[in-house]
Amino acid sequence: MKTAVIYARYSSDSQSEQSIDGQLRVCNEYARSHDITIVNTYIDRAMTGTNDNRPDFQRMIKDSSRKEWDYVLLYKLDRFSRNKYEMAVHKKTLRDNGVRVISATEYIPDSPEAIILESMLEGYAEYYSAELSQKVKRGMKESRLKGNYTGGHLLYGYKVENHKVVVDEEKAKAVRYIFEQYAMGVYVKDIISALTAKGIFNKGKPFAETTIHNMLRNEKYTGVYRYKDDVFDNIFPQILPKELYEKVRHKSELNRYGRRSIETVYLLRNKLVCGYCGCPISAETGTEKVGKVIRYYKCLGRKHRNGCTKATLRKEFLEDFVVDNVVKLLSEKQTCDKMISALMQKQEDIITDNADLQRLTKEYKTTELQISNIMAAIENGGTSATVMNRMRELEQKKKELEKAITIQKSQTADRVTEKEMRAFYQEALELEAYLLINVLIKQITLYDDKMIITYNSPIKEGPDESRDFSFYQKTLNMPYKGKKIKIEVTFAV
Ligand SMILES: [Zn+2]
Repeated sequence: MKTAVIYARYSSDSQSEQSIDGQLRVCNEYARSHDITIVNTYIDRAMTGTNDNRPDFQRMIKDSSRKEWDYVLLYKLDRFSRNKYEMAVHKKTLRDNGVRVISATEYIPDSPEAIILESMLEGYAEYYSAELSQKVKRGMKESRLKGNYTGGHLLYGYKVENHKVVVDEEKAKAVRYIFEQYAMGVYVKDIISALTAKGIFNKGKPFAETTIHNMLRNEKYTGVYRYKDDVFDNIFPQILPKELYEKVRHKSELNRYGRRSIETVYLLRNKLVCGYCGCPISAETGTEKVGKVIRYYKCLGRKHRNGCTKATLRKEFLEDFVVDNVVKLLSEKQTCDKMISALMQKQEDIITDNADLQRLTKEYKTTELQISNIMAAIENGGTSATVMNRMRELEQKKKELEKAITIQKSQTADRVTEKEMRAFYQEALELEAYLLINVLIKQITLYDDKMIITYNSPIKEGPDESRDFSFYQKTLNMPYKGKKIKIEVTFAV
C-alpha cells in the first residue's frame, strides 16, 4: 500500500478559500478511495500565497528526504505554490526524493509526453525564470550591458559587491583546483572527497556531484557569459585560463550522457530481458581481485543455473551504449520534429484545459449580457435606483472578472515557443538521459550480438496518423570488444 502526507494551507487573501478542515476531509476521502495510507499532515494557516515563509511546507520538503512516503496529497495544486517556477523547483526536489505530488481535486496528466513536457518546463523555468515578461527582459539586458549582476543563482567562486560580480578568492581557488584535478583525470567523486578532507564545502555541505559537473561545463569561469545570442564579457571576471576550461569541457563531453546518475543508479533496471531464456537481466555488483568494485548486468536465469549462457555486460558499457543510441535516434530530424509537434500540442491542450479560465470567461460573458440587458431597460425608460445599483454592481463585477482573467492568462501565457521547446528537447536529451530511458523505453531484449529496443508509444490517444512512430524502427551497429552488436528498434503498440 502506498503512503502519503497531506499538505494543507489556508490563506486569508481569498474569500472563497476552502477551510483547513474542508481540505483535510477531501484529501482523506481521496486517500481512502485510492488505497493510500496517510502517515502525516502538514498545515500552514493564514499565510499569503506569495509569501514563502510557510514553516510546515518547508518541514514537509525537508522530511521528504527521509524517503518514508510516496506522495504529497493536496486539496488543489495551488496549495503548493502560486509561483510556477517555485512549484517546479519544489516538485523536482520531491521527485528527487521519490515523492510524487497528487491533487485530490484536479487531474494531473501523467502520460510520457506530459512527463517530458513537465521536465522541460521545469528546465525552462530554471533557465528563463528571470525573464517572465518583456519588460524584465529589457531591463535585464540594459543592466547586463552595464556589467551589472541581474540576480538569480550565483555561480560558486563569485560574490556580489555593489551590483557587480567579483571573484571570491577563497572559492576561486577551489574552482581552479577542481578543474585542474579533473583535467588530470581524477574522478569527480575523488575530487569531492579531497575537497571535503580539506574542509572545503558548498553551502556547508560536501559538494554534490551534479554541482561539480555543472561547474565543469560553465563557461562563465573564463569570463564569458552567453545569453541567447548575446555575449557579455563584462559581468563575470575570469577565474580560469581558457585552455584549461576547453580541455576540461572536451573531457567532460566525452562522458556526459546521464553520467551524473550512472554512479548510483542502474539506468536499465527492470527494462532488460534475456533474449535466450527470457529471464530478467538484473544488476549485480562484484569485486575484482584488487578490491575495485565492478558493476554489471547478468541474466537471472544464468545466475540460477538454468543453462543459459548469456554473457554478462559491464554496467557502464551497456548504459552508455543504450543511452548513446536512444539519444542518437531521438536527435534525428524526423523523430525530433514529431516529438516537438506532440509536445507543442500537449502544451496547447494543457492551456486550453485551464478550468478556472474557462469558468471566468463564461462568467464574464454572462455579466456582459446582463449589463446590456439593463442598458436596454434603461433606454426604454426604466431608471429606478434599484436598476442603477444593479448596474454598478455588474460593472464592478465585470472589472473584477477582467482582472481575474488577466491573472489566469498571465499564468499560462508564458508558453514555450517552438524554438525554445526544441532547444529544451535537445538539452533534455543530453542532461535527462535517465528520465528519457525511464519514460520512453519499454523493454530491451538482450542477446550477445544484438539488442532489441522497444519504445513506449509517446502518444496514447489521437488519430492513427499521429500515433505512427514507425520511424523509431532502426537498425544500428556498434562495435563491442571487436564484435559488432546489431540493434533492432521496435515500437510497442
Ligand atoms: Zn538468459
